[in-house]
Amino acid sequence: MDWIHCNNCFSVPDSEKNFYLTSCGHIYCRDCEEQCARTQCKLCGNQCSTILLSSSLKPDVQIYFTDPFEILKKELKVVHQVSEFQKNHRARFQAYQRKQLKKFKAVKEDFRKLLKNLKDLHGERKKLTQENEALKKYIMMQRSINQSDSSGTTSKGYSKSPYDNAFHSQLDRVISKFIDKMDNSKSSGMSERMCVISPQ
Ligand SMILES: [Zn+2]
Ligand SMILES: [Zn+2]
Repeated sequence: MDWIHCNNCFSVPDSEKNFYLTSCGHIYCRDCEEQCARTQCKLCGNQCSTILLSSSLKPDVQIYFTDPFEILKKELKVVHQVSEFQKNHRARFQAYQRKQLKKFKAVKEDFRKLLKNLKDLHGERKKLTQENEALKKYIMMQRSINQSDSSGTTSKGYSKSPYDNAFHSQLDRVISKFIDKMDNSKSSGMSERMCVISPQ
């Protein structure tokens, strides 16, 4: 190291001469150490102790005799390791969050569809109930007519009067429409929701 020198005589270290570091941070050669740092430091006047500069210095002292770029490289390596460690954990966590978000969106979409189906079914049920009521009324009417005029019945059991053919055609249409609807409902899993007419 080109910067180490005796702070008193400016000699530089060699293989034959020991150098000393004082607790106040000054460096003296073996020749100057006794007169410059035995009781107090000649440079700063502080009471001081000395240690021999060697390869076995404590780390907190050794660092002052280490190339700063070596320290930086070492620290950068630690920084890199810490960064990689955190990056890997972050990536794993973000992947999990993305997966959860995807699941949440799928559930939200399913829920939206279910809600729509529910609304549709509600509307359909209302319509079918109204038709059911209408059919009940027609059938009640037919029974009433049959009772009052049992001689004039057609092959389908309808009364000829007073509603006659127009009434029968209308009733046929309503019943056909209703049966079609029931078939559609069965094929789409709605067969259990309706009972056309309660058994009497
Ligand atoms: Zn010296
Ligand atoms: Zn000093």
